Amino acid sequence: MKIVMKFGGTSIGNGEKIKHVSSLLKSYFDFGHKVVVVTSALEGVTDSLLETSNACLAGKFSAIPEFIEKIRKKHIDAANISIKDPEILGEVIGHLNGGLDELEKIMLGICYLGELTPRSKDNISSFGERLAAPVISGALRSAGVPSTFYTGGDAGIVTTSVYGNARPLLKSYENINRILSPGLENSVQIVTGFIGVNESGNITTLGRSGSDYSASIIGVGIKADEIWLWKEVDGIMTANPKIVKSAKTLKFISYKEAMELASLGAEVLHPRTIEPAMQYNIPVRVKSTFKPDFDGTLVVAEDNKFKNVVKSISTISKISLVNVSSVEMVGTSGHIGKLFTALAENNISVRLVSQGSESSISFIINDVDKIKALNAIESEFGGNINIEYRNNINVVAVVGAGMAGTPGVARRVFTALGKQNINIIMISQGSSEYNISCVVDSSDTAKAVGALHSEFELDKIE
Ligand code: ASP
Ligand code: MG
Repeated sequence: MKIVMKFGGTSIGNGEKIKHVSSLLKSYFDFGHKVVVVTSALEGVTDSLLETSNACLAGKFSAIPEFIEKIRKKHIDAANISIKDPEILGEVIGHLNGGLDELEKIMLGICYLGELTPRSKDNISSFGERLAAPVISGALRSAGVPSTFYTGGDAGIVTTSVYGNARPLLKSYENINRILSPGLENSVQIVTGFIGVNESGNITTLGRSGSDYSASIIGVGIKADEIWLWKEVDGIMTANPKIVKSAKTLKFISYKEAMELASLGAEVLHPRTIEPAMQYNIPVRVKSTFKPDFDGTLVVAEDNKFKNVVKSISTISKISLVNVSSVEMVGTSGHIGKLFTALAENNISVRLVSQGSESSISFIINDVDKIKALNAIESEFGGNINIEYRNNINVVAVVGAGMAGTPGVARRVFTALGKQNINIIMISQGSSEYNISCVVDSSDTAKAVGALHSEFELDKIE
């Protein structure tokens, strides 16, 4: 089988884990599978790169050597544990040191200039993946598996120039096929996830947690049979197992349901991951590095509708509710347009919307955008509008393709919540009918998820 396998930061968090991953990969390679690996950064590295770049922006020169040594140690320790062959180890360490020298210079540049552009931020955050790839490739070579490594750009991923949120251009797929396919037969190629280059050759990133998305893009490029996203959870689940003990791993879920779940808070997938795979009908498998023999969840085209109307309950946290109201909105046009334009111009993403009447509209944004949103709305409408905020809330979303056209689902949702005395603050259902989302107080969230999980008997799902 031709498989693209993506390993996330926690799965390659240290040398022992990398050793485990390379022995898994060796077994698939020895079996005859053709594998391309997409790697993310070692656990916590992207966050610390971004933190340090902010310290650089603030002119904190002393943060740089401290950080570089810390990150050098992390990667060299991982290499020492996972790479036995001294010659390969030497090569990998040389490569790491080269990368770190470059990173140090870039960070110094930020300090001197006191300027951190989106372009330099992407460049800096690319180092997490760029330092991980040689270690994994070295571990494989040391275990006797021929391997080379590429940056996303070297592997053919050409993107738009929207730094921090770039999208692949169509020609990427052909590039990837041309560059990676010849090496599939007799090696395991490692590609850095999360990053590409724009048409001028500058490094771009696909958004946080974007290496899932890279795996999907590469899967389409090499026309893979499956795309496997290795995680430290068993698969896509009926609910967060930290909230609901009886949560089950779903065997199958459709592309559309998985996309809906990813955008409604399920952290297991980057929301854009499914898009390319769906377009070219490539199954995506989510599975656990702890249980390689367990199939995990397979994301496919089939909706599998009628077995369970609801497949999973997800939650969104770290959000605020904004309610905007004015009698002036009644019977006049353009207010909503102005409101959302003001938010868009300030790069504020609106996660859910509900309009109760013509005089008021409520929407959900990320907590981090709250102040920005308030300022944007005030400067757009002045004093002619009332703005209310609400914190300490969560979205609880019921997701399933089978809900479309099935009457009675909303009644079951509201009855289940009502029986638990849970107050619903806001409701939203798109006309795709793939989800019903309720905003509840954070203190009610766990109870709400539990009640819905048992109402739809998700502990018994097949
Ligand atoms: N390393 C990147 C991040 O932390 C991409 C990823 O992990 O998928 O956002
Ligand atoms: Mg990461």
